[in-house]
Amino acid sequence: MMGHGDLRHLHRCVELAEEALAAGDEPFGAVLVGADGTVLAEDHNRVAGGDHTQHAELALARWAAANLAPAERETATVYTSGEHCPMCAAAHGWVGLGRIVYVASSAQLEGWLAEMDAPLPPVRALPIRDIVPEADVEGPVPKLTARVRELHRRFHNAPGA
Ligand SMILES: [Zn+2]
Repeated sequence: MMGHGDLRHLHRCVELAEEALAAGDEPFGAVLVGADGTVLAEDHNRVAGGDHTQHAELALARWAAANLAPAERETATVYTSGEHCPMCAAAHGWVGLGRIVYVASSAQLEGWLAEMDAPLPPVRALPIRDIVPEADVEGPVPKLTARVRELHRRFHNAPGA
């Protein structure tokens, strides 16, 4: 169930996505939070240099593998502005991270890209549970989806408000 702390962390994800966009990168941001609510790590996509595997959620999964014991990973939560792609979902599963809360689903993003005449990703947008069947996943969060959509509209220079 979504709590007040969840929303605060999701707001930070949107901020990180805004920072990515301002830096000329894809607007995706994610935050890794420990069981006690402490923010452990955060990142945004860094694909502008040409490496399209540099997603925020993959960076957090690798950070967790390097810095957290398995029990700490299990009880950590990954917040993200957009549902994990299959690559990041697989990393999440392999590393053994816990709950995921996302603002916008991959299906929503795909719909927006189609509306914006933007290119579809080369990797199919599958729900996280298609990749990690036991994952504890929450989203989308309607309160914040319009803000995330607007960042993608700006990234793709699509017409609109
Ligand atoms: Zn990804």
